[in-house]
Amino acid sequence: MSIEPTPYQNATNQSISERDLRHVWHPCTQMKDHQWLPMIPIRSGKGVWLEDFDGNRYIDAVSSWWVNLFGHTHPYIASAVKNQLDTLEHVIFGGFTHEPVVKLSERLVKLAPKGLTRCFYADIGSAAVEVALKMSFHYWYNTGKRKKTRFITLGNSYHGETLGALAVGDVELYKETYQPLLMTPITAPSPDCYFREEGESWEAYSLRQCEAMEALMAKHHEEVCAVIVEPLIQCAGSMRMYHPAYLTRLRALCNHYGIHLIADEIAVGFGRTGTLFACEQAHITPDFMCLSKGLTGGFLPLAVVMTTDTVYDAFYDEYSTLKAFLHSHSYTGNPLACSAALATLDLFEQSPVLERNRELAAHMAKATEHFRDHPHVAEVRQTGMVLAIEMVKDKASRTAYPWQERRGLRVYQHALKHQALLRPLGSVVYFMPPYVISESEIDQLAQVAWDGVQLATLGG
Ligand SMILES: *Cc1c(COP(=O)(O)O)cnc(C)c1O
Repeated sequence: MSIEPTPYQNATNQSISERDLRHVWHPCTQMKDHQWLPMIPIRSGKGVWLEDFDGNRYIDAVSSWWVNLFGHTHPYIASAVKNQLDTLEHVIFGGFTHEPVVKLSERLVKLAPKGLTRCFYADIGSAAVEVALKMSFHYWYNTGKRKKTRFITLGNSYHGETLGALAVGDVELYKETYQPLLMTPITAPSPDCYFREEGESWEAYSLRQCEAMEALMAKHHEEVCAVIVEPLIQCAGSMRMYHPAYLTRLRALCNHYGIHLIADEIAVGFGRTGTLFACEQAHITPDFMCLSKGLTGGFLPLAVVMTTDTVYDAFYDEYSTLKAFLHSHSYTGNPLACSAALATLDLFEQSPVLERNRELAAHMAKATEHFRDHPHVAEVRQTGMVLAIEMVKDKASRTAYPWQERRGLRVYQHALKHQALLRPLGSVVYFMPPYVISESEIDQLAQVAWDGVQLATLGG
């Protein structure tokens, strides 16, 4: 008798996807599309490569929804998780603790912007956003500022799918239907530099957008708990980017008006923008920093909200004052996930990851230079290890393609036939690869993307 799990015998893409479509409901998907769009069952992953059940291989150019940092099944992270599996898989986190979470918290405090000394754990990014929103509100409540009940968010922002996180986001496609269920934030214009005037610098444009933010703060500061932002890149909002000067100014405005700053680094944290955390480029410490996605190297769900002693102290009192933060999730601080996170931080220490990323980022820029001259490319933009190519119907006026045409989907389909997983956001093709990608694999992606863009834009 074998105690090994049964392998998929004679499984093929077709057999697995047929079984899948009988019972599985996939995220962010119109399931009817799969009448004509094949589901891709992945059998295994190694480094930047994924392999399906028919033996086709794909470069994971989107790091499996931005979570993977050092490639799939990285042996070092895998062995850390395996060791932890035989020691302690999980334990209640109220009243109990364990070594991986203590170590992880110590290391995160050392790495994070100065002053973020307290770590509150959750399991997914959206939950971290909920925690930050509730904590900010509750801080003001505990300190007697009970009129503060609202949040300021940026146009085109994204903070997750749970109701609170969805409410402070601004991507219409995900939000519109649920509007009746959502609290109403105050929305400030995005510093997104796609809309800068011709000849205007990123910095000048982003700073100009601070004026509207300041006006909203001046008007609403008494009722506002916090401003929530995605530092430097609005990832789900089509990989739109802005200058760090915006964040520096925003920090000053928050201080002036007595408003918290929540930095949602769930997608941009852990080196994506060129620094370990995007906030470093603005030399700021937010009041709350949300981390998830890359935190475990893409192995397991884990999220953390880091905050200051000032916030922590406002909750610290006799039980009977009822000031405690009574929020919890079943899998909070899961030891397996923490062990993956510790191994991920080891990998950052063991080699000059950020330096290597600078070379890779420069190579991505070079490999995609020619897209700028494409008749249907409005912009090629880049921040660190994120590079985006925006396809438009009319280049001169930057008229977007009607969303119904699903131009990006054509790039996706083309890429799958040519060994690449590119998953455009609307008409924006982007690369956000694991950091172990090679120069030649970047060249391969650039070629596939070029042919895909040609196919998607030329000939109607
Ligand atoms: C992905 C994402 C979230 C939500 O994280 P989930 O783990 O998907 O819930 C929140 N904020 C940002 C900026 C994200 O990119």
